[in-house]
Formats: sequence, structure tokens, C-alpha cells
Amino acid sequence: MKKPSRLPFVLATILAVSVILAPNLARFHSHGQEGEQKQNFPWMNTMLSPDERADLVLKEMTLDEKIDLVHGNGMPGWGKPRPNAYLGNGGAGFVLGVPRLGIPIIQMSDAAYGVRSSGQNGRYSTALPSNVASAASWDIHGACEYGELIGRELRAQGYNMTLGGGVNITREPRNGRTFEYMGEDPILAGTLVGNRMKCEQAQHVVGDIKHYAANDQESGRNEVDSIISKRALRESDLLAFEIGIGIANPGAVMCSYNSLNGDFACENKYLLTDVLKKAWGFKGFVVSDWAGTHSTVKASAAGLDNEEPFDQFFGAKLKEAVQAGTVPTTELDDHVRRILRSEFACGIIDDPPKKGVVDVEGGLETARRLAEQSTVLLKNRDGVLPLDRTKLHSIAIIGAHANASMISGGGSAQVDPPGRPGAKWQEHVWFPTSPLKAVSAKVPGASVQFDSGTNSESAAELAKKSDVAIVFAHQWTSEGMDLPSLSLPDYQDGLIEKVAAANQRTIVVLETGTAVTMPWLDKVSGVVEAWYAGSKGADAVASILFGDVNPSAKLPMTFPRSEEDLPHAQVATPAPGAKGVGEGMRPGEAKATFSVHYDEGVRVGYKWYDAENKPVLFPFGYGLSYTTYSYSGLKVTPGAETKVAFTVKNTGSRVGAEIAEVYAALPASAGEPPKRLVGWSKVRLNPGESREVSVTVDPKYLSIFDEAADGWKLVAGSYSFMVGGSSQALPLSEKVTLK
Ligand code: BGC
Repeated sequence: MKKPSRLPFVLATILAVSVILAPNLARFHSHGQEGEQKQNFPWMNTMLSPDERADLVLKEMTLDEKIDLVHGNGMPGWGKPRPNAYLGNGGAGFVLGVPRLGIPIIQMSDAAYGVRSSGQNGRYSTALPSNVASAASWDIHGACEYGELIGRELRAQGYNMTLGGGVNITREPRNGRTFEYMGEDPILAGTLVGNRMKCEQAQHVVGDIKHYAANDQESGRNEVDSIISKRALRESDLLAFEIGIGIANPGAVMCSYNSLNGDFACENKYLLTDVLKKAWGFKGFVVSDWAGTHSTVKASAAGLDNEEPFDQFFGAKLKEAVQAGTVPTTELDDHVRRILRSEFACGIIDDPPKKGVVDVEGGLETARRLAEQSTVLLKNRDGVLPLDRTKLHSIAIIGAHANASMISGGGSAQVDPPGRPGAKWQEHVWFPTSPLKAVSAKVPGASVQFDSGTNSESAAELAKKSDVAIVFAHQWTSEGMDLPSLSLPDYQDGLIEKVAAANQRTIVVLETGTAVTMPWLDKVSGVVEAWYAGSKGADAVASILFGDVNPSAKLPMTFPRSEEDLPHAQVATPAPGAKGVGEGMRPGEAKATFSVHYDEGVRVGYKWYDAENKPVLFPFGYGLSYTTYSYSGLKVTPGAETKVAFTVKNTGSRVGAEIAEVYAALPASAGEPPKRLVGWSKVRLNPGESREVSVTVDPKYLSIFDEAADGWKLVAGSYSFMVGGSSQALPLSEKVTLK
């Protein structure tokens, strides 16, 4: 018997499936081809302001299109990919555009010290020195170059938004993300991140500054409540953001995972609306840290504009809330308007990214130069450095990987090194920049030998028979962890002791993400802090060691003598066995499970050690040079903006760049720590040259935050201005009365 034909059934099924899928498929596919008639839209008139252009688009949008703009669509490697995952660019997330209106997809990538995930995407990125390293340069032009390079590489890789711009101040140096931030001082950190992001955004990517705010440790970061007074917050953590945002006008600010004074940062009205949007007049949008959103109505009302990377709260639930009237349409419109405005203001609609090959050679050159400016010379007994090529016959290079590579910082900041697969989460990633090769290249005639230091006896033997021993010591840190202590790991302290005992001329090069303790400090001749030095770290270090580059960097954070001197003996952690945030809690009712009390308040970093009279290993603002400088002729002129003028002279025999630092002590009635940095100037001087420097001090930097008046206030009275080359070497000082 002839089998009945299945054809009608198959055809019917195909038809039914197509009817269901067609609208969705059409919607997905059309996202690739942003409207050909884009140029004719009224909002494409570049004579209009970003606000006007955003308003014009907003008027045309349907509710669904608006909802599309306020949430992400997943992240590669996090859960099951969404059907529209193919629209992503391999970055941390993307936001659908509105193709019929010519509004592009926002393609976001992490980019702390370079563009992330280039490995698994078959691309290449330059790794710049870590962010804390770049802060050690105190150099706003360097910060700008840093941002420009990242902006260019983002665009070449098809991204139009950066997630870089970390500026949480170093309240807790054991924080595993310290390398991603700009040090402990809000004015230094804010100024540098602002200049970096201003220049990055000028490349036509949406800029971002993060993690807002008081996300100062990684332990239990999703469930910790940071408790801090408003005054301390505004004068410390938030001041860094205020300054950075003021300089860069970033398209976005990322709210952080933690809770702050009882409310999660991404649903904290004080942070997002009262301060960021109202007091500071921020016109961009607030993007949540990845899965840092915990509610729909509360978060939306508090000022969160975009949930990433999912749509748990700002997808269907937000649509329902708008339809039910629990989220007013005007509130949704404000979120959408802000996102559109940033897209226009940052130039990503008028000048979309064009994929291309990143400038590898140019990037390496920039990475090297920035690393040279970031490397801090901490100790130089008897002028052991710079090394004299003419007198050296044998050099011992000691330390794990020092024959081949230097360590980098992990987590979402991780940049993938060339020549290997993309890095896994929290893998220790070494960049192929070889100290052994870089040092050998400086002294072709000398014998340069390597010992990994695994066996300290053999390392000491090599050191003993060498003219000089250079130990490359490292401390790996990453997002998602804090350090148990500031000691070098893996018995490296013991190795250094052994090597130093074998050779008087031992130099330690530190590859660290934060401060380290140095029990061996008195026994070694030289110490160089190279941080995570990036793609060309070894060349930069070698140039410093041999004096081809005169070091000029200064510490953007204090190196304490021991953890016991920190404001908190230990990093606060969740109770053992505690569930993570949200676990066992209904969505929208998530609560922090433990607190960290920042009762040191505004006394962060050097302000703490000053106030507590605690000696430190190396103070904030400290760094040596191969030349010497003198300071004279301080003249402080009070006014709407106080002017601090003085003369710096290069009294040595080498060209150098001195970072001249200006501090102020407020009147006692202000109740502030003994001094605060209020400005600086980096001056390049030839041997014997002197220059008059004038630093203009923003009145806010001399003010306190008055909680009762909810504003900044200059306390009338006597102010001391102090000037010099480190927070603890301030030869000039003058008192003036300010009213
Ligand atoms: C980090 C953010 C990052 C995001 C996306 C989060 O875990 O805290 O800094 O931008 O992931 O990768």
C-alpha cells in the first residue's frame, strides 16, 4: 500500500513556524542594516544639540523600542545565549538600536587598560600599563594618550562604547581591583580619569566612569553594604567621580554592585538622582554593573537608566510597570532620552566605528612611553642605579617568568596577550615582554643570566657571581578577589632576602597591582615599582634601569609598613556560609548581607597615616629621580581661585621631569586631616634650569562638604599651603587667611 504523503503536514508546519518567527527574525536581521535613509531624518541635523536630537527620536519611538534601549541582551559565556546573540560584537554586552530610526546597536566592551576579549574574538589589543600605574605618572597628557589609544582600538574592533574608567579610590589597598583604579587621592584620581575618558570619548565612543560608588573591596561585593557618612563620601570617593565626570562629561556612569548606606548603588536615589543627576548635572545615562540591578520600580525611580547585561528587571517587567502606571512614562522617557543623548553627544551616530586593523606598532610605542612615565624609583642606595654599562660584565636576572614575560591584572580588565588563546576568568596572564631580553639588549657585551628563583639557593649562587642581581617580583591581583595581605606571595620575600645576602647590589623590580610590604627593604640597594607594566613593560623597565629614561613617576598611593597600620585590620567578609545576594530572596527584595563601616571617613590613604601619626614605608607622592630638584620662592595669592606660585630647579646633571605637589592644611575648625593634595604640576627641566610654576587651586579643593546645607563650604580662617616633591617632603610653606 502506498504510504500517505507527509508533504501537506511538512508544508503546514513550515508555514506555522514562519508565521510565528517571521516578525522576530525580521526584527533581528534588520538590526544589521541601519536605515539607508538615515541622513534624511530630522535628528541627523548636526546643527541641533544632542538634547534636541534625542527628543526628536524619542517622539517617534514605540513602547517596545524604548524598552529595547534600556536593557542588555546577555553576555558571551554567561548563561544560555539569547536568540539575538549574533548581533553582539563579542564584548561584554550590547543594547539593541532602533534600525528604522537609524539608531545603532550599542556595542560595549570592557577596556580598563586595553580592549578586553580580543583573544577569543581573533583580534589584537595593546595592553597599556595598569590604571594605577598610569596614575603614578600624574600626567594629564599621558592620561589623554591612554584614552585615545583605547578609543581607537575599540572602534577598530567594532565597539562604540567603553566600560573603562574605574576611579574607586584606594580606601582598601588589598582590594583586588586596585590596579584598575587611580590611587588614593580623589583630586589626582578624578583629574586623571577625567582626562583619560575625555580623550577616549573624543574618538567617538560612549565613555564611562565606574563603579559608582564606594565599591572599595571585592569581598562580597554584591552583598556588602558600605556605610559611610555623607560628608566623608562627598569629600573622598564621590569627589573623584565628581571631578572625573566634570572633566569628561562621559556618556555613561556605571553604578556599582554594593549597597551604600542601605540601598544598592543601582537603586540608590541619593547616589543616582540627588547627587549624580541633580547636584552634578550629569546628562548621560546610568548603566548597571553586570547583574547589579535588583528591582524595576525602585531602580527606575532611583535613576538607573540601563540594566546590563540582561533584562530581568528592565525588560518585560518594566514594560508591564509602565503599562500599569507604576513607572511613569516620563520616567522611562528620561532613561531613553539620556541614552539617545549620549549616542549623539559622543558622536557614535554621526561617526559609527569602522572595523580595521589596530595600529600594533603605534600601540606598542605608546605603551612603552606610558610605562616609562609610570615606573617609580623607590630606592637607590649609593646610586646603584642607573646601571653603568661600561662597568658591568655580568647581570643576574632572577624571578618567575623574568626570562619571558611580565604579569598583568585579571578579571574583566584582562587584556589578552598576543600569541595565545583568550584568557580564562582569573587566569594568571603573563605578557610576552621579556625582562631578560630587554636587559640583555642594553648591554650586549655583558653576560646576562637567568634563574627562575624556584630554588633560592641556586638563585643566590647566580647572584653571588654576578656584578648585579635584579629580582623581578610579582603580585597577581584581579577583580573578584581581595588580597589576604600586602606581602609578596610565593615565598618571594625569602628569595629576595637570600639574593640580597649573596649580592650587595641587588635591585628589586616590583610587578604589582597595589602596595606591597618589603621586609627586605634595608637589605637591597634598589627598588623599582613597575606595576603591571603592559605590552612593553620590560623595555620600559630596562630603560629606567640603565638611565636611558630618567624616572619621574610618583606613588599615587601610600605603601604602608604593614597591614596593621591600615584603617581596617582585615577586609570585611560575608558570614561563613552566607547566601549570596538574591539567593532565597524574592527579586526586588534583595538586601545586603553584611556591612563594611568606613568609619575612617575622609581619612583615606596618606590622610589616615598623617592623622594617626603612623610612619609609612613609602609615602603618597613619593618617587626618586636620577637628578635632584630644589624648591624656592613660594607665593600664595588668595582670590576666587587661590594661586600658588613657586620655583623648581633641576640641581642635578640629568634632564628630568619633576612632579611638584601642592598641599593645603585647612583651619583646625574644619575638622579635616592634617593636609590634602590640592594641585600639582609636572615640570620638565634641563640640568641647572629653573622654572616658575603657578598652580591654580579650585576653591572646592579647599572646602569641606557641609551636610546640613547639602553643599560645599569654605571654612574661613588660616590655611597653610605646602609645596614639594612628596607628601612628606614639603620644603615650602606659607600661611594665608581665606574668607
Ligand atoms: C565588572 C565591571 C565590568 C562588567 C562587564 C563586572 O563584573 O564589575 O567592571 O565592566 O563586569 O564585564
